[in-house]
Amino acid sequence: MYDVIITGAGPAGTTAGYLLGRAGLSVLLLDRKNFPRKKACAGGITPKAMVLFPFDISCLVRRTCREVKIIRPGNASFIVKAKDPLCYITKRMDLDAYSLEKAVQAGCRFRKIDRIVRLDQDDHGVSLTLSCDGKTDIVRAGHLIGADGANSKVRRLISGQRSCIIKLPALEADVPVKNAGLHPMTFDFSRDIQGYYWIFPRKTHVNIGIFSALPNGTMNRDLLKNYARDRLKTDILTDVKGYPIATSYDRAHLGTGRVLLTGDAAGLAEPLLGEGIYSALKSGILSARAVEYAVGRKASAPSDALGWYRQSLGDLHLDLRLYRCCASVLYRFPKWSLAVGSCNILHNCFSRGYSKGKTLHEILMPF
Ligand SMILES: Cc1cc2nc3c(=O)[nH]c(=O)nc-3n(C[C@H](O)[C@H](O)[C@H](O)COP(=O)(O)OP(=O)(O)OC[C@H]3O[C@@H](n4cnc5c(N)ncnc54)[C@H](O)[C@@H]3O)c2cc1C
Repeated sequence: MYDVIITGAGPAGTTAGYLLGRAGLSVLLLDRKNFPRKKACAGGITPKAMVLFPFDISCLVRRTCREVKIIRPGNASFIVKAKDPLCYITKRMDLDAYSLEKAVQAGCRFRKIDRIVRLDQDDHGVSLTLSCDGKTDIVRAGHLIGADGANSKVRRLISGQRSCIIKLPALEADVPVKNAGLHPMTFDFSRDIQGYYWIFPRKTHVNIGIFSALPNGTMNRDLLKNYARDRLKTDILTDVKGYPIATSYDRAHLGTGRVLLTGDAAGLAEPLLGEGIYSALKSGILSARAVEYAVGRKASAPSDALGWYRQSLGDLHLDLRLYRCCASVLYRFPKWSLAVGSCNILHNCFSRGYSKGKTLHEILMPF
């Protein structure tokens, strides 16, 4: 019997695992994949996310961006700048392998599984029936942290069809270009897709992608190819990968009983630009703290981990609501919104806040 089982070794799972392992709890971390593994993600880490990593990841940063180019409908563009970094670019394959290594060093036991078959819980713990190498196995723990991403099996097992999660599609590819480092980090809203294209510079190539703010948004390799041809004068794409980004229009589904959902498994990514690493880290940290309290390693421990976890995510929910409002205005009226957004006073205020690691509600507070 473990203190906690964590399903999924993305940023939410490894962060929770690292903190709980370091706190001396027995932790089993499960993933369907062996690491390092590829992951559809542009690897952009905002300053507010950067400070949440419980270990130093500076060795994984491939580019630090202090300027972001925004392309408006009609192709006019403006540059958002800050003295401090606005985004750090990493490669998810490296980031996740590194984070898993840190979690294992902190004391987590990692196990690769084929699939989760069944979840049962009672007053004392949670049992997971697993399929591994053609055999069935049952593992048990006091708590379960579901960190298995947008298509979370844990979420489906505890909520059935009742889930209020919305999955927004995103597709990315690497494009080898000369002088990749000279390309500015770009968010391109010029195409009529209710979403945006991005270009993120790395060392030897740029990463391009499409994000759709519509759950059934059209997305395919040809769209990316056309975009690369238009903007980068090449249509050589490598490593094309797509995956949904999970958000929720209502209050996110954070778990039930002794099961806590985190990151994309709980639909915590924001629906404006699809940033999900920040919420994964934040919810990973808070779920770990909730379990640690409940296991009683802390003074004045509340016994109900889920109740504490729900309450402590209040600020994140406030931010998600604000992002939802911004997304509905931006994608309904992109021309008008970005004309307003191009105003120096306004975007300077946002970029200053973001570069200082503030969240959206903290930036908007003075207004
Ligand atoms: C194309 C694309 C680009 C993106 N770019 C950015 C970006 O630049 N910045 C940003 O902040 N966000 C970005 N996101 C969103 C971000 O990737 C996610 O929000 C983030 O990874 C969520 O972290 P997580 O830990 O909750 O889940 P994940 O990172 O998805 O990790 C889930 C883990 O669970 C494992 N798993 C899945 N199912 C099971 C199962 N049944 N059993 C066991 N293990 C399982 C998976 O193998 C995976 O390792 C992007 C997403 C996409 C699709």
